[in-house]
Amino acid sequence: MTSTVQAPSTPPAASGRIRGLQCRECGELYPFEARHVCEMCFGPLEVAYDYALIAARISRASIAAGPPTLWRYRDLLPIEGERVVDTRTGFTPLVKADNLGKVLGLRNLWLKNDTVNPTFSFKDRPVSIASTRALELGFEVLACASTGNLAGSVAAHAAKAGMQACIFIPSDLEPAKILGASIYEPNLIAVDGNYDDVNRLSSEIADVYPWAFVNINLRPYYSEGSKTLAFEVAEQLGWTVPDAVVAPIASGSMFTKLHKGFSELAKVGLVDSQRTPRMIGAQAEGCSPVVQAARAGTYDVQPVRPNTIAKSLAIGNPADGYYAIKIVEQTNGALEAVTDPEIVEGIQLLARTEGIFAETAGGVTIGVLKKLITAGEIDPDEQVVAYITGNGLKTLDAVAEHVNAPLRVAPSLAAFEAAFKPAAFNPG
Ligand SMILES: *Cc1c(COP(=O)(O)O)cnc(C)c1O
Ligand SMILES: [Zn+2]
Repeated sequence: MTSTVQAPSTPPAASGRIRGLQCRECGELYPFEARHVCEMCFGPLEVAYDYALIAARISRASIAAGPPTLWRYRDLLPIEGERVVDTRTGFTPLVKADNLGKVLGLRNLWLKNDTVNPTFSFKDRPVSIASTRALELGFEVLACASTGNLAGSVAAHAAKAGMQACIFIPSDLEPAKILGASIYEPNLIAVDGNYDDVNRLSSEIADVYPWAFVNINLRPYYSEGSKTLAFEVAEQLGWTVPDAVVAPIASGSMFTKLHKGFSELAKVGLVDSQRTPRMIGAQAEGCSPVVQAARAGTYDVQPVRPNTIAKSLAIGNPADGYYAIKIVEQTNGALEAVTDPEIVEGIQLLARTEGIFAETAGGVTIGVLKKLITAGEIDPDEQVVAYITGNGLKTLDAVAEHVNAPLRVAPSLAAFEAAFKPAAFNPG
């Protein structure tokens, strides 16, 4: 029926490894099913594990024997069976960024290049987990409310899993993101409104239809996928934890689970240090509710109306904003935002120095990194990992007017030399 495949060389989950879903606020434990809100206190649910059991079965060697994808960390993921929706997501390059580091004044800068996932953003991580779990729970329809990248990822994973897809997007999404989802032939619904309107509508639909909304009723499973961004970086750094990480915040799901991932490594004994990195969150000034709350010295994140070119981060009412601020405090991290021109500059700087073309969210990350170094909040000797979460080919309009047009010439050497002026060209 489906085109799902076996996860190579990983044993099935031991019974008891997953304790269920647990409320982040009151600790109430729920069965391991499609639910996301605590019935007692309306707090968010997250997956709870038995770490002693996992520690007994996981090792650096068992992970190294796994596939070169996020499924190598399966023991720390909320999957019960053996069948996974495998799009070969994850295990993306961790690049030592000496050129960019030199420009910014950092001696130990690394980039996690998640632009090269199957649908060109980090969203393939949470969706790999959510689509697999949706099949395990017997759903036939995979759905989501998307700021753009999630649309393409859900559509692709539904195609791979042989499921129907219903995808809700704001109608003003970038053309490349609409086309990049449409090609997988989902039911694509463009809502006249912003993401927060789309999300509200999707929540209502999720109450009525038996669909697996990856970031609503399956959110506890979906969000766990982002932990692999921490696992991979630690493994790629020889099972050590960096001093600081910089990552973008939209709803705050990725940011908070990145932190959960680093914490779990210590809990199951994969890294020696109990330390987690300084967590640095990046937003676009035009949609920065989490940064605004931190600047005002409160945990009370006030919704905003987004107005920024960083559409993938344009969530005005971030579900995990409160927890993001807590984590920043707890880890002595930072929160900062940059303007649209600074985002474009960040995209250009990354491309010029490291040959990586990021979408606007990557410009936000690099822009914030630069801003915090200038402000003296990041030390030149700190080991820093910046997460580049989406591919520049998805947001071409953001940079279209900021690149040089090609030099047009007739097909002759004379015409080339007249136009090119080789004397002015300095290849050094
Ligand atoms: C979705 C997204 C994020 C982060 O989203 P969260 O809702 O905070 O998890 C970051 N970068 C890109 C490119 C995204 O598409
Ligand atoms: Zn509760």
